[in-house]
Amino acid sequence: MIFRTTPSRTARPALRRVRTAAALRPLRHRLDPARMEEIPFGTSDGVRLGLTRVDTGDPARPAVLLLHGHTASADMFLLPETRNLVDVLLDEGYEPWLLDWRGSCRLPYNETGRRYTYDDVALYDIPEAVAHIRGRIGERPLFVVAHCIGSLTLSMSLAAGLVPGLAGVVSQGVFLTPKLGGRTSLRMSVAGELLKTRIDHIPVDFRKVGLWSKYTPLFALASRRASCPDPTCQILHNSAWGTGASLFVHENLDGATHDRLAELLGPAPLWILPHLRRIELARSVVRWHDTDHRYRALPPNALDAAARIDTPVLLLAGSENGLWLDSQRLCHEVLAHRQPQLDVSYAEIPGYGHLDTFLGRGAALDVFGHILDFLGGRR
Ligand SMILES: [Zn+2]
Repeated sequence: MIFRTTPSRTARPALRRVRTAAALRPLRHRLDPARMEEIPFGTSDGVRLGLTRVDTGDPARPAVLLLHGHTASADMFLLPETRNLVDVLLDEGYEPWLLDWRGSCRLPYNETGRRYTYDDVALYDIPEAVAHIRGRIGERPLFVVAHCIGSLTLSMSLAAGLVPGLAGVVSQGVFLTPKLGGRTSLRMSVAGELLKTRIDHIPVDFRKVGLWSKYTPLFALASRRASCPDPTCQILHNSAWGTGASLFVHENLDGATHDRLAELLGPAPLWILPHLRRIELARSVVRWHDTDHRYRALPPNALDAAARIDTPVLLLAGSENGLWLDSQRLCHEVLAHRQPQLDVSYAEIPGYGHLDTFLGRGAALDVFGHILDFLGGRR
């Protein structure tokens, strides 16, 4: 479903009506607002998403779609306080597109909205956004740069053949072979069982939650052995929403980024854990819906269907990834062995964790060059 709005000031009532249906928090960036084209966009299963094109005034540029991780948003590629990926892509002659898929913290679904699984992202959000962009850019090359769950779900879309003909894919953190640390996986199952009876999402903003609430034990657990006094940082850096994993290397963040972590990463829904747990146990991206015919376009196991991937892939990972560990190196090895015909390369960023590969103050120097080299060789 495509929602119709107009940027015209004369049509205010219609605009207001659409926005209140599922409010998208405004993006935070330092680009000229006139260049940010916010495209009203919804999926065929009736979920409103966010789609933004950065207007370059050049109709010949290759397009690059950026996919955020779960509970993050398109804001992770637009940090005003650093040289971010959108800045770098614009300078290098690309046209950036940003999708806020249904797991975005700019949208309400994680906290109060309709529940979903990663099947929905792979089946609806990514292929329909790609189709929409294609309708706008015609025959120009389209790349995708994807982070974390955005990349994991993209791997399912690719293995299903739902996004054919991409010019190339950069996958950060995890792709077809998800592997979580032992401590993380144990806590994920225990915490999921214990907590789902009382709460349905894990917040990250301690200021909103307050000192005494049902969430207090979670924050207390996250603060153990923490070196930073900020509770939001503790629950993300030290505990990754209570799982015990670490999302970034602390010293890689700019102070301003550190202070707005609660804005960059929203609450994590606990009802997604069963699908994540199944994926983690399979060490592969597996479909959740086995009997619902709406999902039969997705393969039961994306790794088994990887021969369908028809685009070059760069697997990126920080050497210190505390959430997905060496999943990307493993993925490179597995694909080299099982699908040697695929064009898959691997690059490891020394001294980087997970989120800091995009949010880090030095990411433009240490990380984005790998992305540009890959895109530049295939544009
Ligand atoms: Zn901190």
